[in-house]
Amino acid sequence: MKITGDQQLIKKMNKTIVLDTIRQKQPLSRADISAAIGLNKATVSSLVAELIDSRLVNEIGPGESSGGRKPTLLLFNKQAGFAIGVDIRVSDLLAVLVDLEGNVIREKSVPLADSEPGSMAEQIRKTVAQLSRRLPESPYGIVGIGIGVPGLVDETSRVVSAPNLGWDNVDLAGALAAELGDNIHIDNEANAGAIGEKLYGAGRDSLNLIYLSIGVGIGSGIIVGGELYRGTSNFSGEVGHMTVAEDGPLCRCGNRGCWETLASEKALVDRAASLWKEDAPSLEEILASAKQGDKDAVELLNEIGSQLGVGLANLVNILNPELIVIGNRLSLAGEVFEDAMLGTIKNRSLSYHRKKTHVAFAKLGIRSTALGAASMPITAFLTDPDVSVQETV
Ligand SMILES: [Zn+2]
Repeated sequence: MKITGDQQLIKKMNKTIVLDTIRQKQPLSRADISAAIGLNKATVSSLVAELIDSRLVNEIGPGESSGGRKPTLLLFNKQAGFAIGVDIRVSDLLAVLVDLEGNVIREKSVPLADSEPGSMAEQIRKTVAQLSRRLPESPYGIVGIGIGVPGLVDETSRVVSAPNLGWDNVDLAGALAAELGDNIHIDNEANAGAIGEKLYGAGRDSLNLIYLSIGVGIGSGIIVGGELYRGTSNFSGEVGHMTVAEDGPLCRCGNRGCWETLASEKALVDRAASLWKEDAPSLEEILASAKQGDKDAVELLNEIGSQLGVGLANLVNILNPELIVIGNRLSLAGEVFEDAMLGTIKNRSLSYHRKKTHVAFAKLGIRSTALGAASMPITAFLTDPDVSVQETV
């Protein structure tokens, strides 16, 4: 019988579903898979045989019998390959090497002297080479690379604008492809952070969540029904530029009173500098003073917390999320400003909207973006497990 294109597509989709089921419910038997997804046992067995051939699935010893012969259990081979996730931050770059389940094998943080696109590409190549050295034996080696960028990234992975890096219209994926291959995914850092927390962190059990990346500015990744909401041009989530004070401070976007001029790490540091009439203290210094009981420092952090609450109340009313995850640098001071932030959300949001909303701090800490970025090539690889990738030597 001739297999048509449609049949091949359906077979591929079924194979992906079988693999997803094994990843989510492992260890399990072929009969368990058949019962879970409603495909007949013969089809499941033939797809599992292909997955075992491609070394994405392993058989392990027999499980409990429900009467007859003990079934063989299946496990996802999380070390069939590895991926690298990179978080480009303003002053440094954090890179992680992970297995196919997102477990960190190695990580490296590199200070950035120069953010010019050519130097950045060179630094990324160097870091990837260092992380890839002497990988554990695996059939697929490095399956791909994901990069989170503090800026706008369009649907073709082109960095349209990253003001903090001084980038306009940069094709970083193109610059890296010759050496690092095609499976390179570039996305906004807050989008990557949202995916990281959804897959591996505080958002695992939530379908509707907002991840807030609060550093120099405020960005967000919005997950609706388990999927990232990308907007028409991939530019969704710029919540930092929501106007919260009509005649507020001038923002780097040209508008006045944007949320990030009142509630970001930069807003905190600028206020501390003008209050204490000294060079801008770091977030860590302000936090240390607050913990030692310095009233000004505590008050500054509470003000930031309540300004955060103002914007969050707007988001709660608009999106009615199940979970809000506070991530990136400002979350380091979360324990100090949390009460002020929650109090303002409570006072300013609609009661029915906030009733089921929880607020949490990022579980992956400063790794949310790097891990989310690493998950992107993994998802692409596992959705199309026939793709050929470089073999490890
Ligand atoms: Zn703005």
